[in-house]
Amino acid sequence: MSVHIARFRDYRRLRFKLTRNAVRNKLPLRGMFELTYECNHRCIHCYTVPAPDKKELTTAQVKSVLDQLKDAGCFYIGFTGGEIFTRPDMLDILYHAKKCAFQTILKTNGTLINKDMADHLAKLAINNVDLSLLGAKEETFDSITQVKGSFKRFVKTIDLLKERRIPLQLKTCVMKSNIDEFMDMKRFAKERGLRFSYDPALTPKSDGSRGPIDHRLSNEKILDLRKTLIARWKEKHKNDKNFKKQMNKSKAKKDFSTFFRCGVGRYTFTIGPYGHMKTCIDIPHPMADVLKKGVMGAWEETKKFIENFKPSEEYRCAVCDLNQYCSWCPARGFLEKGDLNRCSPFHKEMAILRAQEAGDGAAEKYIKEYIEKNKEEMILTES
Ligand code: SF4
Ligand code: SF4
Repeated sequence: MSVHIARFRDYRRLRFKLTRNAVRNKLPLRGMFELTYECNHRCIHCYTVPAPDKKELTTAQVKSVLDQLKDAGCFYIGFTGGEIFTRPDMLDILYHAKKCAFQTILKTNGTLINKDMADHLAKLAINNVDLSLLGAKEETFDSITQVKGSFKRFVKTIDLLKERRIPLQLKTCVMKSNIDEFMDMKRFAKERGLRFSYDPALTPKSDGSRGPIDHRLSNEKILDLRKTLIARWKEKHKNDKNFKKQMNKSKAKKDFSTFFRCGVGRYTFTIGPYGHMKTCIDIPHPMADVLKKGVMGAWEETKKFIENFKPSEEYRCAVCDLNQYCSWCPARGFLEKGDLNRCSPFHKEMAILRAQEAGDGAAEKYIKEYIEKNKEEMILTES
């Protein structure tokens, strides 16, 4: 076994043990810290909305929160925005995070990282940088960010980070404007030896306005993309002995008996730029004030919110025949319908298409009834 694989396995084992310990002892192990909603881009699909009447945390407040998180048992912290590097104190914050020995991940559009900053990120041994690739062509990328020259700066940043061997990966929000360049974006990442992932889930803005939805792909297009990628993946791994095992694993049944099926309020949390703790980036509950209550006080409130949450009668997923084909979670219900409990028509439509594709007889019957009863709620988006 190579040293590399052995290290990877050791790391996965450590991760597993830390998570198990955090769940048992109800510790806030992993968190996202939204440091700002300000940004140097104006992306057409962006969901963040700064609140001009609210003050973002100061440097001293951010550092105090980080100190408290360390004492509370936090080990992984992701910094996100807005654009984190619009904060003039970002470097100071990163040095402090590393002093606290956090595994540190940065989510950034990358365009404000210059040579000097890249040197610092290398010195800090940042654990991962997630960069948003929005198109393979300059004109596409710049038209999505609405900032001329952003693609060129983005490519320069990749070079700077790669030269310094800083771990990075590319993520794309795939949407109407860049779907035709999807394979080119994949190639762009491959040519640079970078991991690449995509997310078609554009959401309404954090203030509820639905502008980004106009850029969302139709469910048919998302499904087509998924089918193409799976076919390519199968072809690539057709001689791999472990492939079938992996495929079967990914078919494991989804359990809808628990309302929150991820780690929120059990070992994960998010802190917003105005100092409020919430369960995840998309769910603004319970918004516990970290400055007034301290990190532990806010964490207690967040845990209680999750522990005491009783689904309303609107919650149908546990008994829905489509649930094995559906990627709904409470955040989707909240973003799409303003209620954590509600079914999201967009996700329901996708579940129907996937059930039809799988030839699920039980689902077929249900689908016909559903289409008849809910014609007005179906959002069969044009492709
Ligand atoms: S880079 Fe991110 S935060 Fe900035 S405008 Fe684009 S999507 Fe929004
Ligand atoms: S289709 Fe609706 S009710 Fe069914 S699992 Fe998905 S979100 Fe829940």
